[in-house]
Amino acid sequence: MSVNAVTPYRRDYSVSADVPKVVVPQKAAPAPDESTPGPTSAPTTGATPAPPPTNAPTAPPSPSPGPAPVPPDPAMSSPEEQKLDEEVRATLKDKPDELEAYEELLTTSTFAYPPGKTERIAMLEQIKNYPETKVIEGFGRLGDRAWFAQQSAEDQQRSAKMVAFNLSDTTPNANKVRENTMDRVLGSDDVKIDWRGIESETGTTYGEAGESGMWWWKEKYINLNSDLVPAGPGKIDAGDQDAVHVVANTLAHEINHTITPGGNEQSYSYFMDEYRAWYVGYKAENGEPPVAGR
Ligand SMILES: [Zn+2]
Repeated sequence: MSVNAVTPYRRDYSVSADVPKVVVPQKAAPAPDESTPGPTSAPTTGATPAPPPTNAPTAPPSPSPGPAPVPPDPAMSSPEEQKLDEEVRATLKDKPDELEAYEELLTTSTFAYPPGKTERIAMLEQIKNYPETKVIEGFGRLGDRAWFAQQSAEDQQRSAKMVAFNLSDTTPNANKVRENTMDRVLGSDDVKIDWRGIESETGTTYGEAGESGMWWWKEKYINLNSDLVPAGPGKIDAGDQDAVHVVANTLAHEINHTITPGGNEQSYSYFMDEYRAWYVGYKAENGEPPVAGR
Protein backbone atom coordinates (compact mmCIF):
# COMPACT_ATOMS: atom_id res chain seq x y z
CA MET A 1 0.00 0.00 0.00
CA SER A 2 1.46 3.29 -1.05
CA VAL A 3 5.03 2.21 -0.58
CA ASN A 4 6.35 5.23 -2.35
CA ALA A 5 5.16 7.28 0.56
CA VAL A 6 8.35 6.78 2.43
CA THR A 7 11.04 7.84 0.06
CA PRO A 8 10.34 11.44 -0.75
CA TYR A 9 9.59 12.62 2.73
CA ARG A 10 12.82 13.97 3.92
CA ARG A 11 13.79 15.10 0.50
CA ASP A 12 13.38 18.63 1.62
CA TYR A 13 14.42 18.41 5.14
CA SER A 14 17.13 20.98 4.76
CA VAL A 15 17.54 24.58 3.90
CA SER A 16 19.21 23.78 0.65
CA ALA A 17 16.22 21.90 -0.59
CA ASP A 18 14.51 22.92 -3.73
CA VAL A 19 11.43 24.04 -1.95
CA PRO A 20 10.69 27.51 -3.13
CA LYS A 21 11.40 29.45 -0.01
CA VAL A 22 8.23 31.33 -0.20
CA VAL A 23 8.06 33.49 2.81
CA VAL A 24 4.87 33.48 4.72
CA PRO A 25 2.27 34.45 2.19
CA GLN A 26 1.21 37.70 3.66
CA LYS A 27 -2.19 37.27 5.02
CA ALA A 28 -4.23 36.30 2.03
CA ALA A 29 -6.20 39.46 2.42
CA PRO A 30 -9.36 38.01 3.87
CA ALA A 31 -11.04 41.09 2.57
CA PRO A 32 -12.68 42.40 5.68
CA ASP A 33 -14.85 44.34 3.36
CA GLU A 34 -14.39 47.69 4.93
CA SER A 35 -16.66 49.16 2.37
CA THR A 36 -19.78 48.38 4.25
CA PRO A 37 -22.12 50.80 2.63
CA GLY A 38 -24.01 51.14 5.83
CA PRO A 39 -27.53 52.35 5.56
CA THR A 40 -26.49 55.71 6.87
CA SER A 41 -29.63 57.56 6.24
CA ALA A 42 -33.21 56.59 6.26
CA PRO A 43 -34.95 59.60 4.83
CA THR A 44 -38.08 57.69 4.04
CA THR A 45 -40.22 58.59 6.99
CA GLY A 46 -39.51 61.99 8.23
CA ALA A 47 -42.38 61.89 10.69
CA THR A 48 -41.36 59.42 13.33
CA PRO A 49 -38.19 60.21 15.20
CA ALA A 50 -36.25 57.14 14.15
CA PRO A 51 -36.51 54.64 17.00
CA PRO A 52 -33.24 53.99 18.74
CA PRO A 53 -31.46 50.82 17.79
CA THR A 54 -33.31 48.17 19.70
CA ASN A 55 -30.54 45.94 20.87
CA ALA A 56 -27.05 47.16 20.58
CA PRO A 57 -25.65 46.41 23.99
CA THR A 58 -22.32 45.41 22.58
CA ALA A 59 -19.50 47.81 22.18
CA PRO A 60 -19.10 49.58 18.89
CA PRO A 61 -17.09 47.55 16.40
CA SER A 62 -13.85 49.24 17.17
CA PRO A 63 -11.23 47.00 15.63
CA SER A 64 -9.10 47.17 18.72
CA PRO A 65 -6.52 44.41 18.61
CA GLY A 66 -6.96 43.82 22.28
CA PRO A 67 -7.60 40.21 23.28
CA ALA A 68 -10.71 41.19 25.16
CA PRO A 69 -13.11 38.27 24.94
CA VAL A 70 -15.99 39.37 22.81
CA PRO A 71 -19.24 37.66 23.60
CA PRO A 72 -20.85 35.92 20.67
CA ASP A 73 -23.19 38.24 18.97
CA PRO A 74 -25.26 36.83 16.14
CA ALA A 75 -25.62 40.34 14.82
CA MET A 76 -21.95 40.25 14.00
CA SER A 77 -22.31 37.15 11.86
CA SER A 78 -22.71 37.11 8.15
CA PRO A 79 -25.83 35.44 6.75
CA GLU A 80 -23.75 32.43 5.80
CA GLU A 81 -22.40 32.12 9.33
CA GLN A 82 -25.83 32.52 10.84
CA LYS A 83 -27.16 29.76 8.64
CA LEU A 84 -24.30 27.46 9.58
CA ASP A 85 -24.75 28.34 13.24
CA GLU A 86 -28.38 27.32 13.05
CA GLU A 87 -27.46 24.07 11.36
CA VAL A 88 -24.79 23.32 13.93
CA ARG A 89 -27.21 23.99 16.77
CA ALA A 90 -29.76 21.70 15.16
CA THR A 91 -27.08 19.01 14.96
CA LEU A 92 -26.15 19.49 18.61
CA LYS A 93 -29.74 19.72 19.81
CA ASP A 94 -29.62 16.62 21.99
CA LYS A 95 -25.96 16.82 22.84
CA PRO A 96 -25.56 19.11 25.87
CA ASP A 97 -21.83 18.50 26.31
CA GLU A 98 -21.06 19.17 22.69
CA LEU A 99 -23.29 22.22 22.71
CA GLU A 100 -21.44 23.56 25.72
CA ALA A 101 -18.13 23.09 23.91
CA TYR A 102 -19.59 24.91 20.95
CA GLU A 103 -20.73 27.85 23.07
CA GLU A 104 -17.24 27.99 24.49
CA LEU A 105 -15.76 28.04 21.01
CA LEU A 106 -17.94 31.00 20.14
CA THR A 107 -16.22 33.04 22.85
CA THR A 108 -12.81 32.66 21.19
CA SER A 109 -11.22 35.37 19.11
CA THR A 110 -11.98 33.50 15.92
CA PHE A 111 -15.62 34.24 16.45
CA ALA A 112 -15.15 37.86 17.43
CA TYR A 113 -15.75 40.76 15.11
CA PRO A 114 -15.64 41.12 12.13
CA PRO A 115 -18.14 38.76 10.53
CA GLY A 116 -17.44 36.67 7.50
CA LYS A 117 -14.15 35.16 8.58
CA THR A 118 -13.29 32.28 6.32
CA GLU A 119 -11.74 30.28 9.15
CA ARG A 120 -15.01 30.53 11.04
CA ILE A 121 -16.93 29.13 8.12
CA ALA A 122 -14.46 26.29 7.68
CA MET A 123 -14.89 25.34 11.34
CA LEU A 124 -18.67 25.53 11.34
CA GLU A 125 -18.83 23.35 8.25
CA GLN A 126 -16.77 20.68 9.93
CA ILE A 127 -18.64 20.81 13.23
CA LYS A 128 -21.70 19.89 11.22
CA ASN A 129 -19.76 16.92 9.89
CA TYR A 130 -18.20 15.97 13.20
CA PRO A 131 -20.44 17.10 16.07
CA GLU A 132 -17.99 15.91 18.69
CA THR A 133 -16.55 17.64 21.72
CA LYS A 134 -12.93 16.83 20.96
CA VAL A 135 -13.26 18.23 17.48
CA ILE A 136 -14.93 21.41 18.68
CA GLU A 137 -12.30 21.93 21.37
CA GLY A 138 -9.60 21.29 18.79
CA PHE A 139 -11.00 24.12 16.71
CA GLY A 140 -10.59 26.40 19.69
CA ARG A 141 -6.86 25.72 19.53
CA LEU A 142 -6.73 25.79 15.75
CA GLY A 143 -8.08 29.32 15.89
CA ASP A 144 -5.00 30.34 17.85
CA ARG A 145 -2.56 29.19 15.20
CA ALA A 146 -1.01 31.93 13.13
CA TRP A 147 -0.50 29.70 10.11
CA PHE A 148 -4.20 28.87 10.05
CA ALA A 149 -5.22 32.51 9.95
CA GLN A 150 -2.82 33.08 7.06
CA GLN A 151 -4.18 30.32 4.87
CA SER A 152 -6.54 30.79 1.97
CA ALA A 153 -10.20 29.96 2.52
CA GLU A 154 -9.75 26.66 0.72
CA ASP A 155 -6.72 25.68 2.70
CA GLN A 156 -8.51 26.60 5.89
CA GLN A 157 -11.18 24.13 4.87
CA ARG A 158 -8.47 21.51 4.33
CA SER A 159 -6.95 22.27 7.70
CA ALA A 160 -10.29 22.12 9.50
CA LYS A 161 -10.98 18.77 7.86
CA MET A 162 -7.59 17.51 8.86
CA VAL A 163 -8.09 18.51 12.49
CA ALA A 164 -11.58 17.09 12.60
CA PHE A 165 -10.55 13.80 11.03
CA ASN A 166 -7.70 13.32 13.46
CA LEU A 167 -9.65 14.24 16.58
CA SER A 168 -12.87 12.46 15.72
CA ASP A 169 -13.73 9.19 17.40
CA THR A 170 -15.96 8.20 14.53
CA THR A 171 -13.49 7.99 11.66
CA PRO A 172 -12.17 4.59 10.56
CA ASN A 173 -9.22 3.44 12.67
CA ALA A 174 -9.48 6.44 15.00
CA ASN A 175 -6.57 6.23 17.39
CA LYS A 176 -4.42 7.97 19.96
CA VAL A 177 -1.52 8.67 17.61
CA ARG A 178 -3.74 10.99 15.62
CA GLU A 179 -4.69 12.83 18.79
CA ASN A 180 -1.09 13.13 19.91
CA THR A 181 -0.18 14.48 16.52
CA MET A 182 -2.89 17.09 16.87
CA ASP A 183 -1.53 18.07 20.27
CA ARG A 184 1.74 18.91 18.57
CA VAL A 185 0.12 20.68 15.66
CA LEU A 186 -2.34 22.73 17.70
CA GLY A 187 -0.35 23.29 20.86
CA SER A 188 1.98 25.96 19.54
CA ASP A 189 3.20 27.75 16.47
CA ASP A 190 6.44 25.76 16.50
CA VAL A 191 5.62 24.10 13.23
CA LYS A 192 3.91 25.89 10.42
CA ILE A 193 1.45 23.76 8.48
CA ASP A 194 0.88 24.70 4.89
CA TRP A 195 -0.82 23.29 1.84
CA ARG A 196 0.57 23.41 -1.64
CA GLY A 197 0.45 21.44 -4.82
CA ILE A 198 3.50 19.19 -4.86
CA GLU A 199 4.53 17.79 -8.19
CA SER A 200 6.60 14.66 -8.27
CA GLU A 201 8.13 12.70 -11.10
CA THR A 202 8.58 9.60 -9.04
CA GLY A 203 5.30 8.55 -7.56
CA THR A 204 3.18 10.53 -5.21
CA THR A 205 4.59 13.02 -2.76
CA TYR A 206 2.20 13.38 0.09
CA GLY A 207 4.07 16.04 1.96
CA GLU A 208 7.42 17.30 3.08
CA ALA A 209 8.98 18.80 6.16
CA GLY A 210 11.82 21.20 6.53
CA GLU A 211 13.12 24.44 7.91
CA SER A 212 13.17 27.83 6.32
CA GLY A 213 15.09 30.89 7.36
CA MET A 214 18.77 31.25 8.04
CA TRP A 215 21.28 31.72 10.84
CA TRP A 216 19.53 32.10 14.14
CA TRP A 217 16.07 32.35 12.67
CA LYS A 218 14.57 29.07 11.65
CA GLU A 219 11.01 28.07 11.12
CA LYS A 220 9.95 24.48 10.89
CA TYR A 221 7.31 23.78 8.33
CA ILE A 222 5.28 20.92 6.98
CA ASN A 223 3.84 21.21 3.53
CA LEU A 224 0.97 18.89 2.75
CA ASN A 225 -0.04 18.15 -0.82
CA SER A 226 -3.21 20.13 -1.48
CA ASP A 227 -3.75 18.26 -4.74
CA LEU A 228 -4.68 15.17 -2.75
CA VAL A 229 -7.12 16.73 -0.28
CA PRO A 230 -10.12 18.47 -1.80
CA ALA A 231 -11.29 21.72 -0.26
CA GLY A 232 -14.98 22.36 0.32
CA PRO A 233 -17.39 21.79 3.16
CA GLY A 234 -17.43 17.98 3.02
CA LYS A 235 -15.50 15.69 5.29
CA ILE A 236 -12.46 13.64 4.43
CA ASP A 237 -13.75 10.75 2.37
CA ALA A 238 -12.72 7.66 4.29
CA GLY A 239 -12.45 5.82 1.00
CA ASP A 240 -10.06 8.36 -0.46
CA GLN A 241 -6.79 6.66 0.37
CA ASP A 242 -4.62 9.54 -0.72
CA ALA A 243 -6.51 12.08 1.37
CA VAL A 244 -6.53 9.83 4.43
CA HIS A 245 -2.85 9.15 3.95
CA VAL A 246 -2.02 12.84 3.86
CA VAL A 247 -4.02 13.98 6.88
CA ALA A 248 -3.27 10.98 9.09
CA ASN A 249 -0.06 9.26 8.02
CA THR A 250 1.96 12.03 6.42
CA LEU A 251 1.17 14.58 9.09
CA ALA A 252 2.11 12.22 11.93
CA HIS A 253 5.24 11.17 10.04
CA GLU A 254 6.43 14.70 9.42
CA ILE A 255 5.56 15.91 12.90
CA ASN A 256 7.73 13.10 14.17
CA HIS A 257 10.60 14.41 12.08
CA THR A 258 10.20 17.90 13.45
CA ILE A 259 10.55 16.52 16.96
CA THR A 260 13.76 14.69 16.14
CA PRO A 261 15.29 16.22 13.05
CA GLY A 262 17.93 13.83 11.82
CA GLY A 263 21.36 14.53 10.46
CA ASN A 264 23.64 12.82 7.99
CA GLU A 265 21.72 10.71 5.55
CA GLN A 266 24.31 7.96 5.78
CA SER A 267 24.01 7.67 9.52
CA TYR A 268 22.31 5.09 11.64
CA SER A 269 20.36 7.77 13.45
CA TYR A 270 18.94 8.96 10.16
CA PHE A 271 17.74 5.48 9.45
CA MET A 272 16.20 5.24 12.89
CA ASP A 273 14.52 8.63 12.52
CA GLU A 274 13.01 7.51 9.27
CA TYR A 275 11.96 4.19 10.69
CA ARG A 276 10.33 5.80 13.70
CA ALA A 277 8.50 8.34 11.58
CA TRP A 278 7.35 5.62 9.24
CA TYR A 279 6.12 3.53 12.15
CA VAL A 280 4.21 6.39 13.73
CA GLY A 281 2.69 7.43 10.44
CA TYR A 282 1.59 3.90 9.70
CA LYS A 283 -0.06 3.59 13.08
CA ALA A 284 -1.82 6.93 12.75
CA GLU A 285 -3.34 5.87 9.47
CA ASN A 286 -4.17 2.27 10.25
CA GLY A 287 -4.79 2.32 13.96
CA GLU A 288 -2.36 -0.50 14.58
CA PRO A 289 1.38 -0.94 14.29
CA PRO A 290 2.89 -2.39 11.15
CA VAL A 291 3.29 -6.15 11.14
CA ALA A 292 6.26 -7.88 9.62
CA GLY A 293 5.43 -9.64 6.42
CA ARG A 294 2.42 -7.57 5.60
ZN1 LIG B 1 10.49 10.67 6.74
